[in-house]
Amino acid sequence: MKDRVLALDQGTTSSRAIVFDRHGRTLASAQREFRQHYPRPGWVEHDPAEIIESQLAVMDEVLAEAGPVHALGITNQRETTVLWERDTGRPVHPAIVWQDRRTSALCAELAPHAPRFAARTGLRLDPYFAGTKLRWLLDHVPGARERAAAGDLAFGTVDSWLVWHLTGGRTHVTDATNAGRTLLFDIHRQCWDDELLALLDIPAAVLPEVVDSSGVVAETAQGIPIAGIAGDQHAALFGQACFEPGMAKNTYGTGCFLLMQTGDTPVRSDNNLLTTMAWRIDGRPSYALEGSIFIAGALIQWLRDEMGLISSAPEVNELAASVPDSNGLVIVPAFAGLGAPHWDPDARGLAIGLTRGVNRAHFCRAALESIAFQSAELVRCMEKDSGRGLSVLRVDGGAARSDLLMQIQADLCGAPVLRPDNVETTALGAAYLAGLATGVWESTADIVEHAGVGRRFEPSGDDVSARWSDWDRAVERAKHWA
Ligand code: ADP
Repeated sequence: MKDRVLALDQGTTSSRAIVFDRHGRTLASAQREFRQHYPRPGWVEHDPAEIIESQLAVMDEVLAEAGPVHALGITNQRETTVLWERDTGRPVHPAIVWQDRRTSALCAELAPHAPRFAARTGLRLDPYFAGTKLRWLLDHVPGARERAAAGDLAFGTVDSWLVWHLTGGRTHVTDATNAGRTLLFDIHRQCWDDELLALLDIPAAVLPEVVDSSGVVAETAQGIPIAGIAGDQHAALFGQACFEPGMAKNTYGTGCFLLMQTGDTPVRSDNNLLTTMAWRIDGRPSYALEGSIFIAGALIQWLRDEMGLISSAPEVNELAASVPDSNGLVIVPAFAGLGAPHWDPDARGLAIGLTRGVNRAHFCRAALESIAFQSAELVRCMEKDSGRGLSVLRVDGGAARSDLLMQIQADLCGAPVLRPDNVETTALGAAYLAGLATGVWESTADIVEHAGVGRRFEPSGDDVSARWSDWDRAVERAKHWA
């Protein structure tokens, strides 16, 4: 049993539970989807009760299959905001999901204070984060602000909401990585910030206690210690064993999420990246730089569903590998504008360099290259901001299955790319955090020792400067289009 750790992975569209052994191998796993609600354009909500039901159901399922576990770790969709009654545990409103844009006007109003929010929290003043969502709930749920000030209501991101339920309403906590996504938490001083709370008119009485990402916080009703908590991207960084500054992970899903560990001092970005917590262990914070790409794997879906160039996602690799290069074609998939480092909402996608000889294999190759170029741009920003070269890029997510994409990525970054055997890195990270606190693993070195090796892609050393210059020129042409 000392060998087994349960991870709860509460995601945006499904709740999952996985039992891992000491080698990071999966012993049992289960997944359940739940409903998404779109009450108005730009609004996205979840039913907090459904989050709990789905999560408890998969937890019971894997425990029945794998037997007793030594500890439990939680990882969760970040920023999604829940407000509930302390005495009944009933939410006063549906959860407002991270994608929800209902607080755009409020963020615009607060724009003069953006530098202060950035200095304390490392974040951009954006509806994405939890703080303005909580403010909206206090403004719009009748009586909420008074009840919150009186200590009758509890706010939490999904980690808090889960712990509350797992402990029968005894424990109201959040970990430092989740606190760090609220716009209310000073990541330098590691505490809720009174000035930011005042700016958002949020009473401190509503807030959870902030705990380490690794450490026993409570026991579940079944007596399992809850010993690790981290937001999904932070858990993935930990699950990828990026324990040293300069190590980074990239998740290739619909979009990409790239985080680089920067050690024990937060690095301020000059390139519009976010400064965020990596995790906090034994009261000691570690920090990261974070950048995201809106369209990555989604481009491959688009080639399949909208363009009919391929019939399945894996086919993109066969076709792309059938040609030595993209034959001068560059695709910039700015379907929804461009994020870091360009931040141009008016950019739109383009394919440039078309000649008579360009065929669908070249399109597939250019598509893979565009995912790698966008990721490598983020790496370049992180290297500039941190003054540190990338030592290794660890990868996960659906599109990381593409060997060709990984090779192109290594070439463009000029650093090795490492793909673990078990790509369930988010859940694995939560398990590591919990197991580290309870003696399943002695140390991070012990984790590394027991982890599988995976596959490594070395940079070929080919000169990529001409390709970079084509990419840069294409990006310029994609900007300011809409
Ligand atoms: P998300 O969690 O964002 O839904 P996943 O991590 O499940 O994403 O990854 C799915 C994405 O990976 C899809 O956009 C798909 O196009 C891409 N993908 C899946 N398999 C492959 C493959 N073999 N080669 C390249 N891309 C792939």
